[in-house]
Amino acid sequence: MRLLVVEDERELAESLRRGLIAEGYSVDVAHDGSAGLEYAMGDDYQAVILDLMLPRMNGFQVCARLRESGVGTPVLVLTAKDGEYDEAEALDTGADDYLTKPFSYVVLLARVRALLRRGGEPRPALLKVGELVVDQTQRRCSRGTTPVALTAKQFSVLACLARRANAVVSKLDILDEVWDAAYDGDPNIVEVYIRALRRSIDVPFGVRSIETVRGEGYRLVGGHA
Ligand code: CA
Repeated sequence: MRLLVVEDERELAESLRRGLIAEGYSVDVAHDGSAGLEYAMGDDYQAVILDLMLPRMNGFQVCARLRESGVGTPVLVLTAKDGEYDEAEALDTGADDYLTKPFSYVVLLARVRALLRRGGEPRPALLKVGELVVDQTQRRCSRGTTPVALTAKQFSVLACLARRANAVVSKLDILDEVWDAAYDGDPNIVEVYIRALRRSIDVPFGVRSIETVRGEGYRLVGGHA
């Protein structure tokens, strides 16, 4: 299991590196955004721990560039409390999870484990909901024959809905299934993901396939214009 830590605070980077190595991971460290991007593009990491405020290229840019290049490695973003950046924005650029500094090391490890687990979860079948194809083996999605690029976590949310197509899935069920039990953040995070999914799987195709059922949850349907 190889992890990449992109963090410019040298002491924090070093303590993360040592801690993660002690847990049995192999760890590379980059101290600025452009080096981080280069590492993440060039190597096969199982997860990236990415600070947002970085010299040369910030974490948003790194994450966005990775996703644009089709790199789906799970990304855990580190944000500063009361920082100028918004966690939701980080998720919109394709991060899978975030942790606010200062964080507990135990929580960080739990989040990393959750990311890695989801990266390697069991792979049942090909799910089809209308024109939408959700390939759980390849963790790929397409509408008709057009591939749709999703982050690891966006995919997990979509797969969660697709496994129960045409049924209402509550926000809490999505949280339980996609986020780790250790997740203690805002449950409205689900909404952020639903919005991002709509922008990827619906809007470009002029379709509405994720319905909001007020007060209950979301329902993935065949889709209609
Ligand atoms: Ca920083």
